[in-house]
Amino acid sequence: MSAKNNIIFGPINSRRFGMSLGVDLSPAFKQCNFDCLYCELAPAPTVEKQTQIVSVQEIINELQKHLHDKIDAITLTANGEPTLYPYLDELIDEIDKIKGSTATLILTNSATLVSNKIFQSLLKLDEVKLSLDAISPDIFKKIDRPHEKIKIDEIVDKVIQFSKEYKGKLFIEILFVHGLNDTKDEIKKLNALLKQINADRIDLGTIDRPPAYPVVGISYKELHEAALMFDKELPVHIASRVHAEPNNSYHTQEEILNTLDKRPLTMDDINLLFDEQSKQNLHKLIESNAVGINHVGNLEFYMPIDNINRKRTHK
Ligand code: SF4
Repeated sequence: MSAKNNIIFGPINSRRFGMSLGVDLSPAFKQCNFDCLYCELAPAPTVEKQTQIVSVQEIINELQKHLHDKIDAITLTANGEPTLYPYLDELIDEIDKIKGSTATLILTNSATLVSNKIFQSLLKLDEVKLSLDAISPDIFKKIDRPHEKIKIDEIVDKVIQFSKEYKGKLFIEILFVHGLNDTKDEIKKLNALLKQINADRIDLGTIDRPPAYPVVGISYKELHEAALMFDKELPVHIASRVHAEPNNSYHTQEEILNTLDKRPLTMDDINLLFDEQSKQNLHKLIESNAVGINHVGNLEFYMPIDNINRKRTHK
């Protein structure tokens, strides 16, 4: 099959990004500046730039065949890192001409934000998801196995700068690997950084698919515990449920209010954590206007009404 047949995939209906049409900017093989332990693609040597390049025109031709008005997002992604695509800026301009009201989204590992050209290109997108797994250089190197010149300190500075300049929707994703970035100390460092970032949503995930190297994820319970370690003002969301074991226990109305105050929950979380009686208690809190729904991207979070009304001061 020629590479161009693999450029477009989906649409995939994702809870986080809605109906998303994928654009693979490295359709022939993996080209990435990281070689993450948890990558769902096979291990591959890291590269600084793409050697197998698809033309902008080919991508636009393929996109035009698949784009329709039910698509929420055109998602730029790759077998590898999409920002290594050398004509990214031009491609974004061409997509803007045909996308109508569809959002443009990129899923990136954040490393190329240190390039001013790529930084400027990403500013043009409607939605950006930056991955950030660790702050400590040793943990970052162990998990993401970056190309030799890549330094986490420089990436972190650029992520902060990007969040200040960016006008679109900014999502951050942290993927937890058991025994590496799931320590209290590392979560504390991530939390300190995230407090400086205007993220619309922070997705916490773990290994959901067979990884490139023999590492394991953390459980849903551990993800939930990790979520509670972040400041409650941060829009943290547990994005991974593959390891979820239902733990439906009873919670009074007061306990529910306390829990939702610390960490807003989606209905998926509630189904995993609450028993039937607790769900009725939640319902009563909604009826009495103590709890409401806050929409973040495509997700609905249950949280105390007071917190929904409280204006976020750091945005
Ligand atoms: S950045 Fe993405 S594509 Fe690259 S190695 Fe990591 S998980 Fe795989």
